[in-house]
Amino acid sequence: MPDAAVAARSSETTNSGTTQQVDVAVVGAGFAGLYLLHRLRKAGFSAVVIEDAGDVGGTWYWNRYPGARCDIQTMDYSYTFDPELDREWTWSEKYATQPEILRYFGFVADRYDLRRDIRFNTRVKAANWDDTSERWQLTTDNGADVSCRYYIMATGCLSTPKPPEIDGVKDFKGEIYFTGRWPHDGVNLAGKRVAVIGTGSSGIQSIPLIAEQAAHLTVFQRTASFALPAHNGPAPDDRKTYFEADRAAYREQARWSLAGVPYPQEMAVSWQLSDAERRERFEKAWAAGDLVHILTQLWADQAADVDGNALIGKLIHEKIRAVVKDPDTAAALSPNDHPFGSKRPCLDTNYYATYNRPNVTLVNLRQEPIKAITASGIVTDKRSVDLDVIVFATGFDAMTGAIMAVHPITGRASKSLSSVWAQGPQTYLGLTVAGFPNLFMITGPGSPSVLSNMAVSIEQHVDWVVDRLAALRDAGFTTMEATETAQAGWAQHMADCSMLTLHRLANTWYTGANVPGKAQALMPYTSGVGPYRGICNEVVSRGMLGFRLTGPNVAEQCNDGEVVRLQPDVRLVLGMLAEMNLPQIESLGSQGARDFLAEFNKGRPAGRPVGEVGDGVLHGADGLLPYRLYRPATPGPHPIVVYFHGGGWVLGDEQSDDPFCRDMCRRTDMIFVSVGYRHAPEHRFPAAAEDGYAATRWIAEHAAELGGKAGPVLVAGWSAGGNIAAVTCQLARERGGPEIGGQLLVCPVTDSTFDRASYVDNGTNYFVTRGLMFWFWDLYCSPADRTDPRVSPLRGKLAGLPPAFVTTCEFDPLRDEGIAYAEAMAASGVAVEQLKARGHFHSSFTMVDVVITGVGGRIKMAEALRRFAGLPPEVKLPPQKLDAAAS
Ligand code: FAD
Ligand code: NAP
Repeated sequence: MPDAAVAARSSETTNSGTTQQVDVAVVGAGFAGLYLLHRLRKAGFSAVVIEDAGDVGGTWYWNRYPGARCDIQTMDYSYTFDPELDREWTWSEKYATQPEILRYFGFVADRYDLRRDIRFNTRVKAANWDDTSERWQLTTDNGADVSCRYYIMATGCLSTPKPPEIDGVKDFKGEIYFTGRWPHDGVNLAGKRVAVIGTGSSGIQSIPLIAEQAAHLTVFQRTASFALPAHNGPAPDDRKTYFEADRAAYREQARWSLAGVPYPQEMAVSWQLSDAERRERFEKAWAAGDLVHILTQLWADQAADVDGNALIGKLIHEKIRAVVKDPDTAAALSPNDHPFGSKRPCLDTNYYATYNRPNVTLVNLRQEPIKAITASGIVTDKRSVDLDVIVFATGFDAMTGAIMAVHPITGRASKSLSSVWAQGPQTYLGLTVAGFPNLFMITGPGSPSVLSNMAVSIEQHVDWVVDRLAALRDAGFTTMEATETAQAGWAQHMADCSMLTLHRLANTWYTGANVPGKAQALMPYTSGVGPYRGICNEVVSRGMLGFRLTGPNVAEQCNDGEVVRLQPDVRLVLGMLAEMNLPQIESLGSQGARDFLAEFNKGRPAGRPVGEVGDGVLHGADGLLPYRLYRPATPGPHPIVVYFHGGGWVLGDEQSDDPFCRDMCRRTDMIFVSVGYRHAPEHRFPAAAEDGYAATRWIAEHAAELGGKAGPVLVAGWSAGGNIAAVTCQLARERGGPEIGGQLLVCPVTDSTFDRASYVDNGTNYFVTRGLMFWFWDLYCSPADRTDPRVSPLRGKLAGLPPAFVTTCEFDPLRDEGIAYAEAMAASGVAVEQLKARGHFHSSFTMVDVVITGVGGRIKMAEALRRFAGLPPEVKLPPQKLDAAAS
């Protein structure tokens, strides 16, 4: 639409009595609200923005404390929707100050003539959905109320400061300031005795500058934060060059990245790197002064694994000790109660050095909590501090605070949002709530928002919402509402995602833990802006999946369902595999397929260290077979697990499930002997089965030589290896030994029937396909032999088998035959445990350190093996070796 037409259309708001009538009401004139207004006008909607503040800017209007700056490089923390705007504005620094960012918003507002549709100094107090008129009625505290078809809350994640929650604040006779509501004409702190309570980003930015002005500064710290030097100055050359080389490509990469800033996915895991390599990476990140760099570029396991993460904490402690002269102060400033990155780390300028100043005192509230604020200052368990000024840098009622402050928000059937969210926020995509038609939230709980460069997240949300409103209008729909199914599915997906990160291990504003009495839940979406964008797009491409659409002259449309049923990392892996356009394995011939697998396996993260890995040969059914032995680091003798790799009886070898064997060796504290059994088509049925049995017998007979414990061995296997393990148990029972103490069958092949539901439902899209399984079967076993229990153990006699643990995966063609085998064994009196892994695919558990959500399942499998061996289920994993200097 041409700009002149936009201007004419956008002013078509009407007043009926005292109510302003518009298509869309937006609350908030920050980053989100301004872009919304621009997009809504362009799309031909009449719109009004209602804003509590006196001008545009949101966060940057309110947070004017000394030192306030962004912590995402300003080059990235900008609007990108208009390349001309992008070119017209040049930031003066790597991290711009609050005044400069506020000027930017003024510039944007002027450039698109936005202020004429913004009602400043006006709060929305309540919102009510009227089912009859299908409109929202908003009550304001200043001027006309508003009636709108669509109500969009761009109210900000960090716009409602948290009350101080300390007794006696009202008694204090000095001055009180909140960083999030800093006076516009500044505060003179010269010569004054000042306290800062709070050491999050706001405290850490302001403390060095307050210390320079104040006569004395006392910092009251409850939780130490990780802070790294911003190294502010001009935008760094490497990033600028990258950006300038192709701005459009750079912006597009940001949109599909993890955190909204284009950085590659780090692949090397911490244990693959030497101490020196890790230190070098860390020093580079420390020198870069870039949160996204240090949060994503050190090693692949830094954000997912406690050990990999702890390495960083130690290195930062070392940095703090190097700067802060007093060892007790350095120790108090060193975070030790949360993983690095689980709380938002801070960017600082001279923060730690500030504690070397003679006029600065740190009070560690963990050792001496505040008892009260009095007329003259602050009293702790151990001291009384006289003060002229108290600065509360105590943070925000984040993510839900501003939304819930509009009270009530009443949806269908007079339900209020506060009652629906009483146990924590429930949303679909972080954008909508079931029962609240035509209500949208920008960066609401359930969206990546605060875990990303918010500029990128906000633009994505705004584009998605406005595009949907335009599409609804064009199709004749007037309401759009999330379904309960879709919302519940999103909650499940959020919970699954949270298992991939360490955020759940910290008490933070991300979880609501900073506000007493607030329902606790990890509120931001943790799997990144790129994956999130893909999901939002998928909702649309699948016919507005999970939304009910209605309109006066069109049939209701409701394509109900859950948009993500796979585990988040499985979804990523399958997406990556699809993008790689891999050849069909069965088209490569058996040797080609083996070469392909060997090449493919080179790209996976190295398995974790164990005590010892050694190779040898053993006697199979018809000659020598190679084996690989994994020995735990602990003193033996250990129980032995005979392991059979996967690969459809055709592919793989004793090394091909290396990460899985290492992981299980560590988790069980047992020896794993992975057997290189013979393969088809060179050696067809029953070669693999007979080798499996012979190898197990040989290993049992040579247990002592292998460092194993006397007594029964255990067997385990994945896929075709699970088939061999199951068959081995049947043969051992029939042939009088060896004694087997238990069997772990992971996604096993158990039968030659291909018509079970899982073969139909999961036959094509989940890596192991129906076609591939047919090929494996054809190479290994002629149709006449397929009912033989040595290849179809489900058809064998099952009574008297060793106890079993059977793992099956929801999105695996082999799922139902695995379940059938577990149930049939149980029906025959065998002790059977099942793990039916929701959202997983055939390779979930063997893709160790790629499919992180497989960890829980492997823990259960390891516990089962230990029970089979008569050991207590839990093993304390040895901590990863730390850099000696750092620890
Ligand atoms: P806001 O900017 O918070 O705007 C919301 C507006 O809604 C406010 O002006 C508020 O007054 C108004 N409002 C709320 N409720 C009502 C109501 N009921 N009636 C009327 N008006 C209402 N993010 C980054 O990605 N990078 C950074 O470097 C960064 N630095 C930050 C620094 C600080 C000090 C803070 C506090 C946050 C920072 N953030 C940063 C997060 C920041 O909040 C977002 O980047 C972004 O500015 C949010 O824009 P928004 O429009 O969604 O919300
Ligand atoms: P915050 O991270 O929540 O920090 C608040 C601090 O106050 C914490 O140290 C907290 O301790 C402490 N605190 C709260 N209540 C307290 C009490 N009753 N007694 C003693 N201490 C108390 O808030 P913030 O610093 O304003 O930052 C919030 C977010 O805004 C940041 O994480 C970031 O996303 C954004 N931000 C960014 C920048 C930037 O650099 N661009 C600057 C400011 C803010 P506990 O941790 O123990 O609760």
